Amino acid sequence: MSKKYFPLSTDKLHEVIQKFPTPFHIYEEKAIRENIRALKDAFSWAPAFHEQFAVKALPNPRIVQILHEEGAGTDCSSLAELLISEAAGLKGEEILLTSNDTPADEFQKAVELGAIINLDDITHLDYLEEHAGLPQVLCFRYNPGDEVEGNDIIGQPTEAKYGLTHDQMLEGYRRAKEKGVKRFGLHTMVASNERRTEAFLLTARLMFDLAVELKEKLDISVEFVNLGGGFGIPYRPEEEPLNLKEIGEGIHQLYNKMMVPHGLDKVAIMTESGRAMTGPAGWLVSTVLHEKHTYKDYIGLDSCMANLMRPALYGAYHHITVAGKEDAPCDHVYDVTGSLCENNDKFAIDRKLPEINVGDIVIIHDTGAHGSAMGFNYNGKLWCAELLLREDGSIELIRRAQTIDDYFATLKYPGSLL
Ligand SMILES: *Cc1c(COP(=O)(O)O)cnc(C)c1O
Repeated sequence: MSKKYFPLSTDKLHEVIQKFPTPFHIYEEKAIRENIRALKDAFSWAPAFHEQFAVKALPNPRIVQILHEEGAGTDCSSLAELLISEAAGLKGEEILLTSNDTPADEFQKAVELGAIINLDDITHLDYLEEHAGLPQVLCFRYNPGDEVEGNDIIGQPTEAKYGLTHDQMLEGYRRAKEKGVKRFGLHTMVASNERRTEAFLLTARLMFDLAVELKEKLDISVEFVNLGGGFGIPYRPEEEPLNLKEIGEGIHQLYNKMMVPHGLDKVAIMTESGRAMTGPAGWLVSTVLHEKHTYKDYIGLDSCMANLMRPALYGAYHHITVAGKEDAPCDHVYDVTGSLCENNDKFAIDRKLPEINVGDIVIIHDTGAHGSAMGFNYNGKLWCAELLLREDGSIELIRRAQTIDDYFATLKYPGSLL
């Protein structure tokens, strides 16, 4: 069983807590840089490779800035994410807007920024043209449906709200070309937290087939194939990380076999990974407020599902350790809870842990993606702070905790009670 990593010693963690009270998410700059470097390494064979960091995984301008320093662009799906990209210093085609049911102002901002636009339906082409004008570079999102019959590898695309069918893809590109768009890419996103190599090879095969078909039927040479995100991480200590080298090499072989013979030998490979870039580089740190024994044994933290929703929402596993008790035997069984008035506000159920006492510091692992990002204010619970552990060992506050005044701000209007 591999041991779960946390970058600070217990003494250093207590020092940090003196200055920045719990709860907070802390992200490690070094790990984030290593994660994107490993991804780039796996695709170093490609004529060009672009990682468009999926901003929704960790929508913080400082994080986007660090990834940008490593060569990443962004994949955005909202106005706020476009503005975060802009604040982080990204320009033009470094930004990609993946639309779905997208309002006019988001298309307008994306076109103003010179971003690549990724459309989710044929009808969105007219909507985009009418409200924002056409972009320099356009792609459509492919939903392979049941083209890959009896396949459990990419789930059930026919149940997904995203993307165009195969025939709609051809029609979409034909119409966009007719309207005068000159530069194209190809997009899909079918996997989620996937660690099996064959899933990524299947995705690449479907996309390369389509790229060749666009070339042959419409004389469109796409500039990039975006394979989406969905690169998985080992949330459980006994799980294996994905094999990026094998995935990169497998896709390289498919590229040589399928793309190169058709003159598609300059097509860039694009990914839009979120989880694999920042997920394992983040931890939610909380203090134990209460211990309760009824039909079960409960440990109550000063954080709640407003700070990390994945366990409550999907029953997702997040590993938990207790600062200073990393080597103690896990001979107690607890439900680890938050303070929300929702019975599913539990970070762990029936979890084997060392004996925990009030005042202990509990570390929840792998919260760097889809953690703080999914924050919400139900029950009047507030967003917690986000800290960055710099490579020089210093700590930088990159999001202050939300205050009660922030929460009440929208309830203040002329004549309001607050
Ligand atoms: C969520 C999302 C991603 C990132 O997914 P990860 O699982 O975090 O890699 C990428 N692209 C799109 C369109 C998404 O919606």
